[in-house]
Amino acid sequence: MSLRFELSKTGHAARRASLHTPHGKVETPVFMPVGTQATVKAVAQDVLEELNVQVLLGNTYHLYLRPGVGQIRQLGGLHRFMSWPRAILTDSGGFQVFSLSDLRKVTEEGVTFRSHLDGSTHLLSPETATDAQIGLGADIIMAFDECTEYPADGQRTRASMEMTLRWAERCKKYFEEHKSEVPWNSCQPSAVSHQENQKCIDPDIPVSDHSRRISSEHVGAAVPARSQMTQALFGIIQGGMDHALRKESAERTIETGFDGYAIGGLSVGEPRALTREIVESTLEHLPKDKPRYLMGVGTPEEIVEYANLGVDMMDCVLPTRAARHGLLFTSEGKISIKQARYASDQAPLDPNCSCRVCRRYSRAYLRHLYAANEVLAQVLNTIHNLSYYLDTMRRVRHSI
Ligand SMILES: [Zn+2]
Repeated sequence: MSLRFELSKTGHAARRASLHTPHGKVETPVFMPVGTQATVKAVAQDVLEELNVQVLLGNTYHLYLRPGVGQIRQLGGLHRFMSWPRAILTDSGGFQVFSLSDLRKVTEEGVTFRSHLDGSTHLLSPETATDAQIGLGADIIMAFDECTEYPADGQRTRASMEMTLRWAERCKKYFEEHKSEVPWNSCQPSAVSHQENQKCIDPDIPVSDHSRRISSEHVGAAVPARSQMTQALFGIIQGGMDHALRKESAERTIETGFDGYAIGGLSVGEPRALTREIVESTLEHLPKDKPRYLMGVGTPEEIVEYANLGVDMMDCVLPTRAARHGLLFTSEGKISIKQARYASDQAPLDPNCSCRVCRRYSRAYLRHLYAANEVLAQVLNTIHNLSYYLDTMRRVRHSI
């Protein structure tokens, strides 16, 4: 057993569900903060717990190069290494290989690339990417795919899609043969075991109600022992901006058979209206009883829109990256905290936000920290932006 997906409510197209993973329950639709290097930049894990982050995303490409999969496996897997007791999803590394590395060469076997850290040469393939993700030990892992560039002509888009389909079969085969090797299947004592009674925290209880957050009905729900559970492998739909190819990619990926389905190859430079069009048409071809993950989107407005279209899971670097550049999302619109107009503003950043930053600090102070290039500016800005995204998703869940 790897994953149980229980639909509880459906709206027009939107769905509310629970995703039971080996590291706790995830209420969907869910926003997953990005923790590229086994850290959500500038925010410690206890604060992420307080913000009710349910599932984090880790980047295989970065962890594979540093500190290395073997090292993380030896230290008990990614959960134990970074002391994160809740769910984790890792990407396959494919997207980063395409966007970050020099001298990449794509063949049927996989992608040969040169590390951006030290120039060493590596091969990521369906087998090595799946092996790396088994070693890291996330709850949900992704098939290795080729993210088709934009724009691409019809012939190129089909060829790329066909290769992703062949790669998907190789990932599935490798996964089925090796899934028992996940690090949390070994019986070592866990550094995070003392926190495991927190793993079923209800993400729908607001941050301000933390003292009440561990209630008996949320602890110890009938979850099989972790040693009996395996990771879940998701397939990725490609097909560029072509509706017919997206449909074909969906049908053939479903034929191979995965625990969930992701829509990849979007937010690669195409107009926003086109992204939405492709998401909507692809969703029509995905099974209703499996989780659907839209990769790499978006703004607060977009994540609401996509959840309402029936997407269950989303991730994006926008809230964390924008925060580090002083761009903050609030209920009253975007704020660029570096602006001089906030120098004497004693109001909280967002009067409608109950996060620890808005409860305690003024816009004037946040503006000062940013202007003085203080590390705390990045910390506080990131905490607020994440809180804003997570609250936005919590409201969407309640509205379904
Ligand atoms: Zn706030």
